[in-house]
Amino acid sequence: MISIDISLAIALFITVSICLVFVKWIFYNYKEDIDSGTDTRYLESCPHCGYVFLYFGKEDVVTCPRCKYYFERLSQEQPEQ
Ligand SMILES: [Zn+2]
Repeated sequence: MISIDISLAIALFITVSICLVFVKWIFYNYKEDIDSGTDTRYLESCPHCGYVFLYFGKEDVVTCPRCKYYFERLSQEQPEQ
């Protein structure tokens, strides 16, 4: 029979934990459909004050959250659902 002392048990626990974190990290980094934050479809820039913000609405007229200036969207391409 295999005898396990406390140091071997702790070493096994730490090794298994590190392996699980490593495998999770590998799958997280190589997943294909991660939104990397480089999608500029939702970025709007206020022509009045220059404030850049994210806008997820569908209307063509946008209100600047900083100066409340109304302007028309620059990108006419509608975001996909
Ligand atoms: Zn503005």
